[in-house]
Amino acid sequence: MLCIFIDALNPKYLKYMPFLSEMAKKNLHGGLEVPLGYTSIIASFMTGMHPEKHGIFDLFKLAEKPKLQIQNKYLLSMKNLLQNKRFFYSPLQIPQAKARFFEASMSKAWTQKNCLPCPTLFDILEKNRKSFALIDWPNYFRNRKAAIFFSESSDKVISLIKKSKDFDFIFAHFLDLEAAHSCGTNSRQIIAIAKNLDKKVSQIANLHENVLFFSDHSMDNIKKEFDIISKINELNLKFGKDLIYLVGSTTVEFWFRNNTAKIKVIKLLKTIKGGKIVNVKKFKLPKTSGLLFLANLGTAFHPNFFSKKRFRAMHGWNPKQQKTAYILKNSKKGGKRDARIIDMMPTILKLIGLPKVECDGHSLI
Ligand SMILES: [Zn+2]
Repeated sequence: MLCIFIDALNPKYLKYMPFLSEMAKKNLHGGLEVPLGYTSIIASFMTGMHPEKHGIFDLFKLAEKPKLQIQNKYLLSMKNLLQNKRFFYSPLQIPQAKARFFEASMSKAWTQKNCLPCPTLFDILEKNRKSFALIDWPNYFRNRKAAIFFSESSDKVISLIKKSKDFDFIFAHFLDLEAAHSCGTNSRQIIAIAKNLDKKVSQIANLHENVLFFSDHSMDNIKKEFDIISKINELNLKFGKDLIYLVGSTTVEFWFRNNTAKIKVIKLLKTIKGGKIVNVKKFKLPKTSGLLFLANLGTAFHPNFFSKKRFRAMHGWNPKQQKTAYILKNSKKGGKRDARIIDMMPTILKLIGLPKVECDGHSLI
């Protein structure tokens, strides 16, 4: 089975993608709901579990103890490689005084053993003696054997898919549409990228009988920016002593060191019209912070800890309002049907002919 992960796919791009639109018409397809968050999404794809079970929410989490970090990204990648930790993210873009409070929420890549506290799709495939390949820049895995590739271009991904075609399961990640962050979702540039990507994936869609096209999130234009950091600064609380916070483009996570800080922040957040405090239980998220604040669709926090650059489009808003899409080419006929990302793992196991496992999702087939 071939699994094509088209990052940042806004379903409206499909009108510029004749090959995928045709494939949707003939096969099972629909809207796709993902969990709130970032790294949480693929973790839920890989386990069929809501984030409250696998414990991942953001790219970064609070470090157990504040620590100094290697500031050179190449040295840091080298150190991770030597330790065979192939989840290559670290909070380098955050100013050092704040960065030392955080660490990457995972250390291993999806195909590595024990990357999450619950079994992944790859663990189940291995247990059932099925072979797998993962092409997820910069990681290229053939079963558990890791290699690195340097170009994130779709041509490189296509060539690695062709090279891996004999594996029972292939997972390949295309990053092209992430460009919408800078150019927006209505730009000529993103339309050209969508058209080009459609041609590219048409080359490999017949390599396997079962092919899943899916995305981890959609992408929507930013309509309003809000400077939440200035508002927090006005509270005169000390970062590290009274509270710690992590400001993303659409979410702010808070950890409180005392009750006064908590009361002040809650009072502030209640006055902000551009967002809401999240009920993490309702969103089936793990309790990784003391409080989570989410921007309303269209509002983005700027400045934030992740990028100095101003973006035109973003993801990570309420997933009920910002859905992506999937298409599943398979031998069983089926029409439109909405799905959740946790349904993908049980669907894949069924298509490969493996027994059901305990998880939160349900097979679409
Ligand atoms: Zn993404």
